[in-house]
Amino acid sequence: MSEILVLGAGMVGVSTALALQARGHEVTLADRREPGRETSYGNAGIIQVEAAEPYAIPRDLKTLLSFGLGRSNDVSYSLSGIRSMVPALMRYFANSSPKGHAKAAESYSQLTGRASEDHQPLILASGSDNLITREGLVILLRGAQAFDEAAAEAERFKAAYGVQSRIVAGEDWRREEPALRLTPAGAVHYTDSWSVSDPGALTQAYAKLFETRGGRIVTGDADTLARSGEGWQIATSEGPVSAEQAVICLGPWSGVFLRRFGVKVPMVLKRGYHAHYDAPMRPRRPFLDAANGVVLSNMRLGMRMTSGAQLVPQDAAADPRQLRRAEAAVDALIELGPRLEEPQWYGSRPCLPGMLPMLGALPGQPGLWTNFGHGHQGFTLGPTTGTLLAEAMEGAHSPLLDALSPATQLA
Ligand SMILES: Cc1cc2nc3c(=O)[nH]c(=O)nc-3n(C[C@H](O)[C@H](O)[C@H](O)COP(=O)(O)OP(=O)(O)OC[C@H]3O[C@@H](n4cnc5c(N)ncnc54)[C@H](O)[C@@H]3O)c2cc1C
Repeated sequence: MSEILVLGAGMVGVSTALALQARGHEVTLADRREPGRETSYGNAGIIQVEAAEPYAIPRDLKTLLSFGLGRSNDVSYSLSGIRSMVPALMRYFANSSPKGHAKAAESYSQLTGRASEDHQPLILASGSDNLITREGLVILLRGAQAFDEAAAEAERFKAAYGVQSRIVAGEDWRREEPALRLTPAGAVHYTDSWSVSDPGALTQAYAKLFETRGGRIVTGDADTLARSGEGWQIATSEGPVSAEQAVICLGPWSGVFLRRFGVKVPMVLKRGYHAHYDAPMRPRRPFLDAANGVVLSNMRLGMRMTSGAQLVPQDAAADPRQLRRAEAAVDALIELGPRLEEPQWYGSRPCLPGMLPMLGALPGQPGLWTNFGHGHQGFTLGPTTGTLLAEAMEGAHSPLLDALSPATQLA
């Protein structure tokens, strides 16, 4: 048993703290804000067991051109954003080759495949079952060709990874989802994914569970982390906190943080936005409107629309053009109703070029561990990678842990 400091209280940090605590360690969780107020707050709230393959950069010229010319609503960018991420984007692009992507998927599918099982005990113990809907995730296709392609991919996922789905023709789907105002070409219904009606509240409920079980949560800036004897120390509102080991779970801020330790982690930060609408009729299940690159999910606050990727510098001002572009098209599909007034939220998917989270011991920094870079699925993967990191800290070895380790990914 040892004293461990977990830096960052998003879904990943909170879940890591819980996993270490469950193994008898004395854990302090530090964040500059309350738990679950950043990326883990504003996402689409899907526990994506269907996401067996990580998101690769498309390599065909047609898709790249549609991104470059701003024709697709999946991606937007600024030149300064692209410039700031060139090395990471180049490595990400190289790893997105069919061979590189298949290799990453071999590890990734082992993570997403167990994600809901890993959430379940925490959902129950934190009294959060009322936030969870177990109705799957839908990919809604407006055109026949897109439907055929999505159906073929679902069949491939079923054969390769055992991901369960139903392929449903547009007319039939409309009968299942009366909120639809027009008939799509069809829907792929991934049946085993779960959705959460308030992702920030689930993260906070897990944090509360950690406290109830004897864990300590403090307010402090990770940038004050310094060596102290054999261990680590940070300054907090309760004074200095020391521990033998520290874990970096700073999500999209992890790359910049590590520069202080001379470690360069190339990261692609894919910013996304959300907005809420007072939709008069809500669909039963969350869905991706594939033609418009937005996800619609039922939230306690309203119908939440989340946008695709925007490649801009981390400190760039809000520019929710992807939400605006999608609004009219989505409204033709389901009546969105009035947009709720709230400050414009945005957050970044912390993506690493290898498309895997970086989890394990940081080379050259004894007692410093990492668990970040969960990209498009960090809300899904928190409890899973938290458990795996706790195992790694106790000396476990496996091909999966090797693939995820900083030693492998930074080589
Ligand atoms: C639009 C959008 C939709 C998404 N939809 C989904 C989805 O449906 N399903 C899914 O699985 N994933 C989704 N994701 C991805 C997911 O939200 C992220 O991968 C995940 O939230 C990352 O969790 P985290 O704990 O690593 O980071 P965060 O939740 O960002 O937590 C990092 C924490 O570190 C703290 N911190 C940072 N710097 C410091 C510092 N210097 N000192 C102290 N504390 C610090 C922050 O305050 C924050 O609390 C989506 C992301 C976006 C942007």
